[in-house]
Amino acid sequence: MSRAPNDLAPEDRRAAVTALAAEISRCESCERLVQWRRRTAIERRAAFADEVYWGRPVPGFGDSAARVLLLGLAPAAHGANRTGRMFTGDRSGDFLFAALWRTGFANQPVSVRRDDGLRLRDAYISAAVRCAPPGNRPSPQERDRCMHWSLRELALLANVRMVVCLGAFAWNAAWRLRTQALGTVGRAAAPRFAHGAELLQPGVGDRPAFSMLGCFHPSQQNTFTGRLTEPMIDEVLQRARALTGLPVAGRDQPR
Ligand code: SF4
Repeated sequence: MSRAPNDLAPEDRRAAVTALAAEISRCESCERLVQWRRRTAIERRAAFADEVYWGRPVPGFGDSAARVLLLGLAPAAHGANRTGRMFTGDRSGDFLFAALWRTGFANQPVSVRRDDGLRLRDAYISAAVRCAPPGNRPSPQERDRCMHWSLRELALLANVRMVVCLGAFAWNAAWRLRTQALGTVGRAAAPRFAHGAELLQPGVGDRPAFSMLGCFHPSQQNTFTGRLTEPMIDEVLQRARALTGLPVAGRDQPR
């Protein structure tokens, strides 16, 4: 994976990331997912019956100079597929953004809509698949088809050193991205996902840094059952800060 855009000036990088996001939001490569995201946007959930759903691929968002990339599975049908911003407008996002705020990556603990004033610092959020899939289950073919967007995104996010993988699906997708980035496709099987798993790859010579941290997905299934708690996700995010040279943040520090 080329990291040549590292030479871009910050404003040019921001513009390139914005242009890529616009391109992603027009993608129609997966027939099944295109139908599903549109159907969901038309049928809507009763609680959101007055809203106009995004109903398109959801690009990543955040700090284009980020050192940490958070990778999820795919947009939720009535969350990001409704609001047009990753992890925005659902319970998973409520949990995740509160954690990002506590650990110094976000300027506010809530994320409800695209114009709510949320800003990320040193972090960028994306997903392995950009369209909401039925049952939250993209097929392997859909995952692979969507990977080129992640590769292009990552090439622009030249400061990213660490991918925090939210769940096993994201972990395996990040592994595939990593093999592309390091030119090691097919040389080794993906290591097993676990909460707190670490795969460290500092940049050496012209090899880009590409480390991975595992974190249980902040789904209701995990957070309501206590499988993923606030201290657990905070610990992973603080570890990501420490491993990428960012100061470990506390609740009382200015953001
Ligand atoms: S999942 Fe990815 S590749 Fe498929 S239509 Fe959506 S954006 Fe395009």
